[in-house]
Amino acid sequence: MPELPEVETTRRGLQPHAAGCRIVAVHVYDRRLRWPVPDSLPGKAVGRTIDRIDRRSKYLLFRLGDDSLLVHLGMTGSLRLWNSPPPRRPHDHIDIVLDSGATLRYHDPRRFGAMLWVPEPSAAHPLLASLGPEPLSPAFDADYLWRVTRRRMAAIKPALMDSRVVVGVGNIYANESLFRAGIRPTTAARRVSRRRLGRLVDEVRSTLTDAIAKGGSTLRDYVDSSGKPGYFQLDYFVYGRAGLPCRVCGSAIKSVRQAGRATSYCPRCQD
Ligand SMILES: [Zn+2]
Repeated sequence: MPELPEVETTRRGLQPHAAGCRIVAVHVYDRRLRWPVPDSLPGKAVGRTIDRIDRRSKYLLFRLGDDSLLVHLGMTGSLRLWNSPPPRRPHDHIDIVLDSGATLRYHDPRRFGAMLWVPEPSAAHPLLASLGPEPLSPAFDADYLWRVTRRRMAAIKPALMDSRVVVGVGNIYANESLFRAGIRPTTAARRVSRRRLGRLVDEVRSTLTDAIAKGGSTLRDYVDSSGKPGYFQLDYFVYGRAGLPCRVCGSAIKSVRQAGRATSYCPRCQD
């Protein structure tokens, strides 16, 4: 599933080729995504110029003057740019044709993604309004995380994965950041000290930044490529390593389920 680093890499891959281009046609071949692609979307988008591509959480926002085109990749979605598009394959659902002659093609076998029209102010849109701060923004800091966790009965890991607290920290990155910060994922969020939360903020940032940096080598895959999107294999410390020896101390990595998700941790390095 595309996580924040993959979405950010998609943004960086497409931005230099799409920004400044005018949309000359939008072909919706199958509108049955997570929410139906609005019938009115092509009429609104055609003639608009893509000022830039922003990202909020895992949503891409194509800025088109006063409005935005929102794209979510769901579980299996990908967005590629073709200078001369090949014949459509199964699951190629939407083509956005640019005045440069290139085509942005949305492909999504499981159709859990979305393409919606978002009027300004986009931050007030129901999908975006209740989102917490971006993990790589200055708003996500130790004081903030300390403040929002004081009354939380929940454990620190589900708190970290709650998009109202901070966006874009998926299961892999929550597991890895907590290991790097030395915090047991099952600890009640409100019992974690400000100092340790500061360490956690730093580790969330560096874990995501490392993954985005790995994605840098796949940027070319977003243009003229039908290859699989780059899913970034970090050298995980705990994620997917239940029962294996900790890379730091050699203890067996433990696994539990929290809020329906697999949690892995080292019983010695994380307390
Ligand atoms: Zn260990």
